[in-house]
Amino acid sequence: MLENQAFSKEISGQRPRLLSIVVPVFNECQSVGPFLSAIDELLLNDELVRSTGLNYEVIFVDDGSQDGTAAALHELCRLNAHVKVLKLSRNFGKEAALSAGLDASSGDAVIPMDVDLQDPPELVVPMIAKWLGGAKIVNAKRIDRRSDTFFKRTSASAFYRIVNKIADHPIDDNVGDFRLLDRDAVNILNRMTEHSRFNKGLFSWIGFATETVEYSRPQRDRGDSKWRPAALFNLALDGITSTTTLPLRIWSLVGAAIAILAFFYAAGLVAYTLFTGGDAPGYASIMVAVLFLGGLNLLSLGMMGEYLGRIAIQVRNRPLYVIDSKEGF
Ligand code: UDP
Ligand code: MG
Repeated sequence: MLENQAFSKEISGQRPRLLSIVVPVFNECQSVGPFLSAIDELLLNDELVRSTGLNYEVIFVDDGSQDGTAAALHELCRLNAHVKVLKLSRNFGKEAALSAGLDASSGDAVIPMDVDLQDPPELVVPMIAKWLGGAKIVNAKRIDRRSDTFFKRTSASAFYRIVNKIADHPIDDNVGDFRLLDRDAVNILNRMTEHSRFNKGLFSWIGFATETVEYSRPQRDRGDSKWRPAALFNLALDGITSTTTLPLRIWSLVGAAIAILAFFYAAGLVAYTLFTGGDAPGYASIMVAVLFLGGLNLLSLGMMGEYLGRIAIQVRNRPLYVIDSKEGF
């Protein structure tokens, strides 16, 4: 009922609103066609969408594909007026590609989507309904990750558990990049100049009235996952370093605790020698202390290195991505 009211308000509005769907693609020549058909099928035929007069654009960001994706996108752009193509000069990674797409989008609402149909297009309709009802961000939450590998599931849940314990702003669990962002939210995102981008963290940081729709994540439609474990590990580090400084600050506490322990240990040794006259035993305890503290030292230095490296990248201040060509804009 409430949503229907929102829809009728839309109809009486002046300018038809625009929805931008932003799709980063990397070596996906088999997937771009079926994806576009699914979106067209949905948005051209859905009654609710049509009754609002909502217009849409699909922005494909070609993230340096090598496999004929560029040709496929060129063809789609030629045949379909909704399609816009942004070609990056090389592979910059999904996060940067997404930023490029968000920068280029002009919609009143923007939905980033994967091209492999793991983000179900049907969900776009309830998202739009919630947006028209007043939400500025609509999260799509996975209630079931059975389609992911065991490794990905367990590593992801461990990551979210750790980050949400230490992050300054909690990240929504089980919500990927697939969500609806109002223009206000997109404008703020576009003003964030972070180079080590962890979009999920940025989305949560913004705040705003947020609603959630739930879905169960299907298998990849065709082609292979583009994530390698090393890249995922890096993304996880980006996530931690960009949401909290706790790993930097914790070492003063650890150092203080060890110093206090060492003080009591030393006092105990002095008392032992004074009262019993015996030698303080040596080799084993020295080795343990040296190796333990050496390990801690290197660990804390490494943590600082993670932050320092990202600061260095930020200070160089290179563009987040380089656009090779634009088509359909
Ligand atoms: N992608 C990208 N650049 C990359 C890696 C992936 O633009 O360097 C795109 C990819 O084409 C897809 C989306 O990001 O549209 C999600 O990738 P994928 O399905 O491989 O990730 P998964 O679902 O396995 O997490
Ligand atoms: Mg996928």
